[in-house]
Amino acid sequence: AKELGRNNFQYFAGWMDAQVSNRLEMLVSLRRALDRDEFKLYYQPKISLANGRIIGAEALIRWITPDQGMVPPDRFIPFAEEAGLIVPIGEWVLRTACAQNKAWQDAGLAPIPVAVNLSPRQLDQNLPEFVRQVLAESCLAAAWLELEITENVVMKDAEKTVATLNALKRLGLQVSVDDFGTGYSSLSYLRRFPVDALKIDKSFVRDIARDTDSAAIVKAVISLGHILNLRVIAEGVEDQEQYNFLLENGCDEVQGYLLGKPMPAEDFTRRLELEKKA
Ligand code: C2E
Ligand code: CA
Ligand code: CA
Ligand code: CA
Repeated sequence: AKELGRNNFQYFAGWMDAQVSNRLEMLVSLRRALDRDEFKLYYQPKISLANGRIIGAEALIRWITPDQGMVPPDRFIPFAEEAGLIVPIGEWVLRTACAQNKAWQDAGLAPIPVAVNLSPRQLDQNLPEFVRQVLAESCLAAAWLELEITENVVMKDAEKTVATLNALKRLGLQVSVDDFGTGYSSLSYLRRFPVDALKIDKSFVRDIARDTDSAAIVKAVISLGHILNLRVIAEGVEDQEQYNFLLENGCDEVQGYLLGKPMPAEDFTRRLELEKKA
């Protein structure tokens, strides 16, 4: 038994080393990625269910590595959060999204709000001042910026979060609650939070047709949002059946592969140009 224990320990220690060196490697390459400009923002359209037109975009980060190609955010955002690198990365995202949105407006395209995802670590008391600076530098009116925060972030430190969100809202931007339904917001909190929209998590949307519980939850969230005077948006819409369900049940906006995958800014520009002609 003793021998087995030691072997197990060696095995475990070896595994730990591998984890640690992978993590270090990851941190080193993330830091380098910032210096070398290896990040890119993709934009996914948000479509109005009232008229089928583009009424917004969500900026989603991509990491284009020289050796491994494109790394999806789920593979590096958690590391970046743990290492505190999410703050400089998040700043880059905010600057880039605001500058891009301003460029679209300057090109004479119909103005839309662009949404940026925020990590919990970014939501501290310095954020409103930073956002104010970025808006000023990019000459973008605050109304064209939206911030997406996840449900659990909102709930974690409710008092502080309310204060920060209030300061952000005073700038004039929009705030939406992302991944709604997967966390644990209480209704009373939701009412107190200065938010503009709820985003129904894609796991519920995915199962609309095959699972009556998911369908019921989606309907309930739409009603709840409207009772609280919030816009409701569904993400992860992949087929016509889901689209029709959301339309029939009064959802306001949809986002998903059916309407458009996340795409480079150049491609999104073309979508906006087509929209102008339509
Ligand atoms: P999220 O904010 O919930 O973003 C939605 C994710 O669903 C995106 O994955 C998007 O590409 C994907 N998606 C869009 N339409 C569909 C669809 O029809 N079907 C399916 N199955 N998926 C769809 P992505 O781009 O890989 O991003 C994953 C997560 O990474 C995001 O989830 C967000 O939490 C995080 N993230 C992305 N960009 C940023 C960023 O700039 N900053 C921070 N802090 N987090 C980010
Ligand atoms: Ca999001
Ligand atoms: Ca989401
Ligand atoms: Ca998510």
